[in-house]
Amino acid sequence: MQSTDKNILESAVTVDEDFSFCFCCNSEECSLACCHGHAIALNPYEVLRIKEYLKLSCEELEEEYLLSLYDESGLPLLMLDRDPCPFLKHRRCSIYPARPLACRLFPLGKVCNGEAKTVFMKDCDCSGIGKGRRLTLREYIAEQCAGEYIEMWERWVSFVDTVARAKLSRKPMKQVFLKILLYNFDFQPKVAKPHATLEEQFLARLIAAEELISGIGSEAE
Ligand code: SF4
Ligand code: SF4
Repeated sequence: MQSTDKNILESAVTVDEDFSFCFCCNSEECSLACCHGHAIALNPYEVLRIKEYLKLSCEELEEEYLLSLYDESGLPLLMLDRDPCPFLKHRRCSIYPARPLACRLFPLGKVCNGEAKTVFMKDCDCSGIGKGRRLTLREYIAEQCAGEYIEMWERWVSFVDTVARAKLSRKPMKQVFLKILLYNFDFQPKVAKPHATLEEQFLARLIAAEELISGIGSEAE
């Protein structure tokens, strides 16, 4: 994480549903702070939305646009580099209808440090803050069509917690299986219903992944 990002997050204030702020995005005349900075982890729901929007295979999306890594708990992650973001074309987001949650909420954000909360990055370099009409947090979430993304993020946070307790980093083969379960959308887990929505597909993947992880828990160390 770049130090500027770190400072911005450190000075961010936690907000609740009653929070309101004046905001008007004007991407023609700003620094595009929302599209530059440290890489962000995409959850499988966000990856699936982008893959569907761009009509790419998982491999193409990963190879062309994303960074793949395992975090210290052994969780496979796909990261979106934002230095600059590969989807930023001519100062516009080329995947706007499928943009991730962090992009939808900016200059607000979701963080989980023990507990999930919403923060307002008051010190970020966004020229839209303080301009335009006043919006409540609820109105902003609705305007950005972020409701389903938040629901899926909350489910993902609980899954990440399960992975953190599973000592997955000691099981390299299981890490590889987990990556296939989470991010290879050409592979359908058994629990997935036919014609499932993208949300249902994502939730089915998490259930299948949790089954894999609970199997890991019963294995001898
Ligand atoms: S959200 Fe802020 S930084 Fe991003 S394009 Fe709009 S005004 Fe610029
Ligand atoms: S996905 Fe779109 S909105 Fe998000 S950082 Fe990239 S260009 Fe900006």
